[in-house]
Amino acid sequence: MKLIFEQSAAGRGTAYLPEIDVPQTAPDFKGRETPLRLPELSEIQVDRHYTALAKETRGVNGGFYPLGSCTMKYNPALLEDAAAQPGFRDVHPLQPDAAAQGCLEVMRKAEAYLAEITGMDAVTLQPAAGAHGEFTGLLLIKAYHRARGDGERTKILVPDSAHGTNPASAAMAGFEVVNIPSDGKGYVDLQALKAAVGPDTAGLMLTNPNTVGLFDPNIAEITKAVHEAGGLNYYDGANLNAIMGIVRPGDMGFDVVHVNLHKTFATPHGGGGPGSGPVGCKDFLRGFLPGIRIAEEDGMLRRKEAEARIGDVRSFGSNFLVAVKALTYMMILGREGIPETAAGAVLNANYLMHRVKDLYPMAFDETCMHEFVMTLEALKEETGVSALDLAKALIDHGIHPPTMYFPLIVHEALMVEPTETEPRETLDQAADTFRAVMEAARQHPEEAHLAPLTTRVSRPDEVKAARKPVIRYDFDHPMD
Ligand SMILES: *Cc1c(COP(=O)(O)O)cnc(C)c1O
Repeated sequence: MKLIFEQSAAGRGTAYLPEIDVPQTAPDFKGRETPLRLPELSEIQVDRHYTALAKETRGVNGGFYPLGSCTMKYNPALLEDAAAQPGFRDVHPLQPDAAAQGCLEVMRKAEAYLAEITGMDAVTLQPAAGAHGEFTGLLLIKAYHRARGDGERTKILVPDSAHGTNPASAAMAGFEVVNIPSDGKGYVDLQALKAAVGPDTAGLMLTNPNTVGLFDPNIAEITKAVHEAGGLNYYDGANLNAIMGIVRPGDMGFDVVHVNLHKTFATPHGGGGPGSGPVGCKDFLRGFLPGIRIAEEDGMLRRKEAEARIGDVRSFGSNFLVAVKALTYMMILGREGIPETAAGAVLNANYLMHRVKDLYPMAFDETCMHEFVMTLEALKEETGVSALDLAKALIDHGIHPPTMYFPLIVHEALMVEPTETEPRETLDQAADTFRAVMEAARQHPEEAHLAPLTTRVSRPDEVKAARKPVIRYDFDHPMD
């Protein structure tokens, strides 16, 4: 496939600017010395180029996309319509309150719904991503201890089944991270936790369901142990798909929670698009919240700031249109639809797990939540075929690879999240494909390293592609 620069033909008419019909004034800044070297193509060529690129892209619209820990689900198109309403799309963040009443109402409602779903008393929409929400929530915990004059609480406990962003956020917020091991079943080791808590414990960060897709049955005991030691409990609710409308972090003993609107509440996820990681907290932390508080005064909604706020974590109130989509999604589903969605996510994951588990050993053979983790350690030892090889083979069958080599506590891991939006036929087809790929790998292990055979590039150096991406066209040394 040719790059757009390689398709360029000098002089092809592409400028549609009309002749200037007002007096020309020389701008008072230094312009560039050489003209910009833009490719010159006709409109249809440009259209075809980008359409061809789009066709090469794998997305949830093109096929099954079971990437775990990321919730690549289909998002209803209606939400894009809602976000494209001019009143939402064109609002300026500095517009006076009186001229933004509808938008403030959307934010207030979205906050209230998220507070209800998470069992919290207040929510800020300000954080722009999940990890950003974690950072914000940890600053709330820090502010709380500081406000009580307790400077000794410097440690955050993080189970080893936590999402990788948890220890990173705790370190960024200035805490010392204490790793808590899992027991043999994939749950938090209660004895280790109880031994770790003490007067230096600022709090615990728990990912639940955890990164092996399990709901910790000891959750009440875990949060109690931390509270009794004087610490606070933080719930990583990035993936609320499995529990929303069924159980609430606030009822399980958590004080702070973040959710990822771009995973659970319907904004397309991935590709670096806009995200949103609202943070909810219990009443006693409300005063520390960043961002705006929306209060009703004299029949009008007004933006306020909390009195002891930790400071803003980004500009203005939120990635507002993501909140518009999330609210629309919650309103479409309603009180019945939200738990039904969660049940569907859990059912689909368990169904697919049961259809493949005789060939793909599960890391922990328990009823899973919205995702499950397989371990291909035995396959690797017996045949030399790795989890990576199998993931690549799935590409040739039209399936996007599951998450690979994560969580770190499972060797040769493949983590699968089908999501609630997939019909049974897709799950059956996926199960058949997973089985066929495994059988082929066992029969011809030597060929397993060749996949994928159907893509333009087979196995790029992924580290180099991430660390040294070539994103500029070099006119002097065009690529061959
Ligand atoms: C995705 C995810 C995060 C991080 O969210 P980002 O929006 O990518 O920063 C944190 N925790 C869990 C459990 C996640 O799945």
